[in-house]
Amino acid sequence: MNKQSIADTLHGFVLRYRHEHSTGTRWRTPLVGFAAADDPLFIELKRVVSPTHALPNDLLRTARTVVSFFIPLAESIAGSNIPGTLASREWALAYLETNALIDAAALHTKRLIESKGHAVELTMPTHNFDSRKLVSDWSHRHIAFIAGLGRFGLNNMLITGSGCCGRLGSFVTSLELASDPRPGGEACLFRHDGSCRRCALRCVGDALFPDRFQRHNCHEMCLRNEEAHRCLGKADVCGKCLVDVPCAFTDPVKQRKIKAEQRHADGLQPPKMP
Ligand code: SF4
Ligand code: SF4
Repeated sequence: MNKQSIADTLHGFVLRYRHEHSTGTRWRTPLVGFAAADDPLFIELKRVVSPTHALPNDLLRTARTVVSFFIPLAESIAGSNIPGTLASREWALAYLETNALIDAAALHTKRLIESKGHAVELTMPTHNFDSRKLVSDWSHRHIAFIAGLGRFGLNNMLITGSGCCGRLGSFVTSLELASDPRPGGEACLFRHDGSCRRCALRCVGDALFPDRFQRHNCHEMCLRNEEAHRCLGKADVCGKCLVDVPCAFTDPVKQRKIKAEQRHADGLQPPKMP
């Protein structure tokens, strides 16, 4: 199997899943990234995330590649979560259904890769974190960063080419595949030039500020939503800082550059002063 066939397998599975399972949630096209299991950045995660953060070889002794994938939510799901303080029912349901989708998509791909004679070890899509420190021993966001899927935003999410409204999954395999390059520059407008900060302004939990993140306040808010949507399952989410923001569905820095280039090409750009 090669990178394209793994990406095609995940794409096809996501497309079929919504019809086969009649989900309330709709998804956009997944993005897939690949990292070498011995990329030195994995060891850095023990410093950046947690000393107990696992290495790919802790999960699978023969690991050669880490496969990371991002499943973006449909814009209507994000739209439902814009008003109010509590997460919308659609948003909470999307969290649960997307986690189930990630599990199923990873398992399907695992079986396919295994049928070609390679080993695969899956990881949980969520709730793999220390409930006291609230840090993960397998951070999908950091794994996705290493696999070149995006850059971190002020809202602590990975801003991919399809934005940050979605969920991440990953698995490790003994199959050796070329790693993807990490994008240069920033994707978050605040990190790029100090502008925007919209995610911090939208925070409903007194948790997100331009200069700090109060992890426990954010967790409190997520637990309030879990309680409010208890009939759906364990939906400890919030996501108000991911919706109605410029990075919800796209990389806003890249979009801004594309627009500037278009304006320049159209001759609309004001001439530069000498
Ligand atoms: S809303 Fe603005 S400041 Fe916040 S992560 Fe997105 S681009 Fe960055
Ligand atoms: S998830 Fe909610 S509480 Fe947490 S930072 Fe975002 S808006 Fe604030």
